[in-house]
Amino acid sequence: MRQIQMVDLKSQYEKIQNEIDASVLDVIRSTQFINGSEVKKFQEDLENYLGVKHVIPCGNGTDALQVAMMALDLKPGDEIITTSFTFVATVEVIALLGLTPVLVDVLPDTFNIDPESVKKAITPKTKAIVPVHLFGQCVHMEPLMELAKEHNLHIIEDNAQAIGADYIFEDGRRQKAGTLGIIGCTSFFPSKNLGCYGDGGAVFTNDDELAKKLRVIVNHGMEVRYYHDSVGVNSRLDSVQAAILRIKLKHLNCYAGARNKAARYYDKAFANNPRITTPVRSKFSTHVFHQYTLVIDNLDQFALQNFMGEKGIPAMIYYPVPMHMQKAYQDPRYKEGDFPVTEKLSKTVISLPMHTELDEEQLKHITDSLLEYLK
Ligand SMILES: *Cc1c(COP(=O)(O)O)cnc(C)c1O
Repeated sequence: MRQIQMVDLKSQYEKIQNEIDASVLDVIRSTQFINGSEVKKFQEDLENYLGVKHVIPCGNGTDALQVAMMALDLKPGDEIITTSFTFVATVEVIALLGLTPVLVDVLPDTFNIDPESVKKAITPKTKAIVPVHLFGQCVHMEPLMELAKEHNLHIIEDNAQAIGADYIFEDGRRQKAGTLGIIGCTSFFPSKNLGCYGDGGAVFTNDDELAKKLRVIVNHGMEVRYYHDSVGVNSRLDSVQAAILRIKLKHLNCYAGARNKAARYYDKAFANNPRITTPVRSKFSTHVFHQYTLVIDNLDQFALQNFMGEKGIPAMIYYPVPMHMQKAYQDPRYKEGDFPVTEKLSKTVISLPMHTELDEEQLKHITDSLLEYLK
């Protein structure tokens, strides 16, 4: 059996190696490492794929969130509502910009931000909502979009984990995750669904003015060279990464298919175990399975992780400590017990290997081992 990995980037690379190697070599020979033609072409490819007017590539997903908030002129004291059950980057940039993160709980079935809790958290200082499409499935956006309209709030989607997923509106209309808010943000970190071979990220918007502003911000606040009209950052996607992403983007739908196939295998194997809750498929989103995350009753996560490890199976806990219980984000407004769903999830979730290259032999070993542990 091939070694089981949480994300098997090597096997994936081997299948597209000729194309990748040739493209990377082309960039090297062109010596257009920064802002080369590959970056422009990737931007256009991604705009077409997502059906969005503007894609602005940047250095990574964390920067994407930061430049989005900078472009919206959010100011210290402004409150930004987001979820406590997320990767730290979401909350980090809010804090870095001197904005106030207002954390809320998630729904127990999708692990995504609870629109009712968002509603209750809105104050006159609220300026934006940052829904995180966690683990590959969209947040229920329509209630958030209504709240945003009613209270004049921006929606910035953290789409680092759900690129390629479709949001399904109540009327059946579909739209790509990350293109519903005023700005969508994504990451091309290697283990993400559309991962490059280093760091990378992008923001998306349908707003022409904002797109212009975002392009200036990621380039030192500079529209005309050496004239700086606003404070910006240096956040670029390099040409080598863009060339790799152009190739991988062509496979993104197939990759989502492979992830779904592995997910169905897991679902079936765990269906009859009363302690295991398999991932829910919400009716307003397709699932691209960035992670396959189980909730297991009465679980000692670390003991299970060790047991699986001894069988050669990596398993991860995303995320063991909610944001409101992190040392760096302590806030007198929050204490343990405030977000019961998030807190319970953080103690009972376990994510299994999920990537595009899992074969049946590996899946069988993983599911047999987990069921053996629970016996
Ligand atoms: C990965 C991730 C980010 C940050 O992306 P980087 O490219 O690593 O900076 C932000 N938000 C979420 C939810 C993520 O999973």
